[in-house]
Amino acid sequence: MLSNYSCPSDCFAFCCTSQDIELIEKELNTLRKGTKENITDIEFTEFDGNRTYIIKPPCRYLSESNRCTVYRWRPEVCKSFPFNFHPETHMFVVYPCKLGVDICKDFYAFKSQKTNEPVPLHKIRNLEAESELYYDDTNDDAQISFTKMSFSETIEFSKFLKSKK
Ligand code: SF4
Ligand code: SF4
Repeated sequence: MLSNYSCPSDCFAFCCTSQDIELIEKELNTLRKGTKENITDIEFTEFDGNRTYIIKPPCRYLSESNRCTVYRWRPEVCKSFPFNFHPETHMFVVYPCKLGVDICKDFYAFKSQKTNEPVPLHKIRNLEAESELYYDDTNDDAQISFTKMSFSETIEFSKFLKSKK
């Protein structure tokens, strides 16, 4: 869906080096099968009998040249980055990395063109401020606020993505 976008050259796999990478059992098994490794040393949490595995950053599958060495078998969270579903709020969220900011800016422009309303500059300023925090090594992750989309906004967003195909 993001074939029209690529990561800005001044962001070097920050997504793979700065945050926990969560995966479910099925995805871990895909990695096991793909890498032919019996991966047993990944931390997990358990809730209602379901395990969530957590690869701590930097991701062990990132090469020295910042390439994913398990690209074909990478978990969903990597495939969809900088987007994710926030289970607590049941909202679609966008991480404020450089790619996320670029996409959101285009989305706001798309929306304002459709509605004939001005581009919401305050939202763009907020996004840029969030992005600075996101890349700030001294910032505790918990302080980053993600751009959350309501159900109706998510529908608009999917129209925007389709328009990019
Ligand atoms: S997805 Fe975002 S954080 Fe990851 S490399 Fe691209 S711009 Fe950087
Ligand atoms: S599995 Fe690949 S894409 Fe996912 S965090 Fe690790 S190196 Fe990055």
